[in-house]
Amino acid sequence: MMNRKSFIIIMGPQGSGKSTQASLLADYIGYKFISSGKYLRKLEGEGDPIGVKLSEYWKDGGLVPDELINEIMFSLFEKDVSNGFVIDGFPRNHSQLKVFLSYLNVNDWVLRAVVYLYVSEEECLKRIESRSKIEMRLDESPDSVKKRLSLYHLETEPLIAEYNSRGILKKINAEQSIKNIQSDIHSALGI
Ligand code: ADP
Repeated sequence: MMNRKSFIIIMGPQGSGKSTQASLLADYIGYKFISSGKYLRKLEGEGDPIGVKLSEYWKDGGLVPDELINEIMFSLFEKDVSNGFVIDGFPRNHSQLKVFLSYLNVNDWVLRAVVYLYVSEEECLKRIESRSKIEMRLDESPDSVKKRLSLYHLETEPLIAEYNSRGILKKINAEQSIKNIQSDIHSALGI
């Protein structure tokens, strides 16, 4: 039988705890966790020529070109044997979402839900500041963070309306403990 893959998208601003929750959720339901940003940083860290080239885009907080990130993500989905994926960081704008939805259609794969973690801007900034003291990311200078947050509001946040109109949006208050957020996500997904 054909493997019908399912996808859950986790979205929210920088500092909303997306990665943490995406990875916990993936473990819980036996899906594979894929973070576009983590994957780009891994490629760069390994000295992969494409990875190093792409770091030119993300280092200062800008976005990697749509065609390139689409191709990278699709090849990750295809080469993985998992039945399901929890994705963090993709799609990030309308153009990526459009291509992703038609890609799912062509493969007869399912977008099961979108988990939207909402949190105040003030709390996001606080969390990013404390995390960047521990984790040395090339793109966590104050300027890059500002640019990433503004790109989020400009390009990614508008996707919420699209998910909502498709009836797959799950809104979760992310100003709670990791454990409580996790249990709210489980209830919202009915798992
Ligand atoms: P953030 O904390 O800003 O959500 P991520 O780890 O998701 O960070 O991504 C880090 C960087 O990787 C982004 O600022 C961007 O340059 C690049 N990137 C990740 N995903 C995408 C995408 N879907 N489209 C374009 N660029 C991306």
